[in-house]
Amino acid sequence: MEETKSRNFIEQAIDEDLKEGKYDKIVTRFPPEPNGYLHIGHAKSILLNYGIAKEYGGQFNFRFDDTNPTKERTEFVQSILEDVKWLGADFEGRMFYASDYFDQMYEIAVKLIKKGKAYVCDLTADEIREYRGTLTEPGKESPYRNRSVEENLDLFERMKNGEFEDGAKVLRAKIDMASGNINMRDPIIYRVARMTHHNTGDKWCIYPMYDFAHPIEDALEGISHSLCTLEFEDHRPLYDWVVREAEFPHPPRQIEFAKLYLKNIITGKRYIKKLVEDGIVDGWDDPRLVSISGLRRRGFTPESIKMFVELSGISKSQATSDYAMLEYCIREDLKMKCDRMMAVLDPVKLVIDNYPEDQVEYLDVYNNQENPELGSRKVAFTKELYIEREDFMEEPPKKYFRLFPGNEVRLKNAYFVKCTDFIKDENGKVIEVHCTYDPETKSGSGFEGRKVKGTIHWVSAKECVDATVRLYENIVLEEEDGYLNEDGSLKLNPNSLVTLEGCKLEKAFADAKPGESFQFFRHGYFTVDTKDSKEDALVFNRIVSLKSSYKPA
Ligand code: ATP
Ligand code: MG
Repeated sequence: MEETKSRNFIEQAIDEDLKEGKYDKIVTRFPPEPNGYLHIGHAKSILLNYGIAKEYGGQFNFRFDDTNPTKERTEFVQSILEDVKWLGADFEGRMFYASDYFDQMYEIAVKLIKKGKAYVCDLTADEIREYRGTLTEPGKESPYRNRSVEENLDLFERMKNGEFEDGAKVLRAKIDMASGNINMRDPIIYRVARMTHHNTGDKWCIYPMYDFAHPIEDALEGISHSLCTLEFEDHRPLYDWVVREAEFPHPPRQIEFAKLYLKNIITGKRYIKKLVEDGIVDGWDDPRLVSISGLRRRGFTPESIKMFVELSGISKSQATSDYAMLEYCIREDLKMKCDRMMAVLDPVKLVIDNYPEDQVEYLDVYNNQENPELGSRKVAFTKELYIEREDFMEEPPKKYFRLFPGNEVRLKNAYFVKCTDFIKDENGKVIEVHCTYDPETKSGSGFEGRKVKGTIHWVSAKECVDATVRLYENIVLEEEDGYLNEDGSLKLNPNSLVTLEGCKLEKAFADAKPGESFQFFRHGYFTVDTKDSKEDALVFNRIVSLKSSYKPA
């Protein structure tokens, strides 16, 4: 029997609306402001809106919410589009700009004035704030509230024509200064601002406010369900007021859900911007950031992000998710997809004294033991190898099963070797380990003579490639009282980026392409960096280690 997934509260609300025949078609949208890069939280919104549209056989619109000319940067437009496409949220060419609706918004404002539902107000910003009242006290009516329709129409047109200074006048909705909801106390719906807009140029010197513009954008596009985050819950009465007073025949319905927060992880644009500006990170796509472009560069896949968003769930109450859960998702996704290869990150030479000088054996190795479909490859085995420095100890502690004088281990996919000697430099650093191998013990030969307790990985010194490998930790320190200092600055983790040079990788890596991911035996999952890696100077980012601190429920 097929398992039926329990429906989240948004699906339940939509089911209800469909049953009551309120909408013919389900249409959702993702409306980012092009004022920064998208992050993992936006991915939740994108995948939720896209997923709902798909589930109900409806439509998913993409819309740049570019009504505010102060902050927008065309630089972000490109990156946002790329991120949405990468996540697989296909809007099938239904891409819109809110600024394309400025004419309709203006007409609706005029309509409100004619209906006696909007007025031009000359109070200063400070006065408007004073008059607004507080949570416990009602507001006071503006002395300009009862201007005649004719005067309002004339003034609003002159606002549009640029006759007034920035901030000199605003258009306000005439609702209720005594409302228990402050958002309904005659909110500003248009302001004067002589600013050049990236799309409409200098055509407008008045711009609509978000709470007025957004519902109109939704309604004009025939959005049925406008899914947004919880902070807009108190704005819903205003949203409903706008679409009702504008007399849209099929008003969209706003439904709020909780934002996605990651514990101890910075997502705020303000902080990321500062890190970028201070040169602490390598741009908005630094692999330590949970911007979508950073996650992509780090090696996360759209599938892993989708799984993470689904595991986080859709709810009405705020909660935080663990980064460990995101790590679990990428491990799950890559487990069967990636070749598992040998890479030595901190190399020391291992010399097999009884192995012929010029011999090269090509061992047949499965690319992924759990997924034979990925085929196999040849790995060169030679007299001189590299092993991890930590896999040899002169004086091992108890329960150390790797190489030490007199001990025998298995070289992964190859032979048993027994440590016979080692050489140190003048500083006492081990520079060479010597051993002998037993030809009888070849992997896959069915040898059963004796057992060893340790298996270590290795790379042929003769047939290998050099690489730079970057290991990451959280960019901020994970302390009890959070990652902010008292002065509001970030507590930076000095170990957030560790760069290892001269790592030795199997020769098969020579063909690795930017963005391609692998499992490095014992070290985790790694991807070829898309910005810094060159054909003859490979750079790998660690996506995630193999160790997990997260257990799925
Ligand atoms: P701003 O402070 O600039 O408004 P924003 O993060 O809200 O920042 P928008 O471009 O307005 O950015 O967001 C686009 C959409 O993504 C909105 O619908 C918003 O509600 C949603 N969104 C933003 N952050 C999150 C989050 N952490 N979790 C889920 N959805 C989010
Ligand atoms: Mg926003």
